[in-house]
Amino acid sequence: MATNRTFTMLKPDAVDKGYIGAILEKINATGFKIVAMKMTRLTRAGAEEFYKIHKDRPFFGELVDYMTCGPIVSAILEKENAVEDFRVLIGATNPAEAAEGTIRKLYAESIGNNAIHGSDSDENAAIESAFHFSGREVFSGNFF
Ligand code: UDP
Repeated sequence: MATNRTFTMLKPDAVDKGYIGAILEKINATGFKIVAMKMTRLTRAGAEEFYKIHKDRPFFGELVDYMTCGPIVSAILEKENAVEDFRVLIGATNPAEAAEGTIRKLYAESIGNNAIHGSDSDENAAIESAFHFSGREVFSGNFF
């Protein structure tokens, strides 16, 4: 399997509760390499754009409110089979249905405030990464 990339955000609830370190530790321990990362805050327009696929869903307004209510940590992660393996690591959208040991089971509050995002395809990983990072902010390869 080829080494590839996925995109993640630690969402405002996880950042507010002080879970950044614990979640990053789990991500590293599962074999993902962080190749880009920053703390930022989404604008309303940015959150609406990022989640535009859900614009007609009843939860869209709440989702945008939540994703803009405080800082997030966004990152690009590298690993073999990155997208699929990361979706396994984060667990089901609804933490009540997430498997034991997954990030959402451990750290999410609810289906809305669910601690973490993970891209659902290679194509979306590339789109979402480009939305959050310029090429100069992505560091891949050997530095030592
Ligand atoms: N969401 C929500 N209510 C729902 C479904 C989703 O508030 O009934 C939010 C939740 O924060 C989720 C995001 O919308 O992570 C995107 O939903 P998606 O179905 O793409 O889930 P994900 O890919 O994040 O597991």
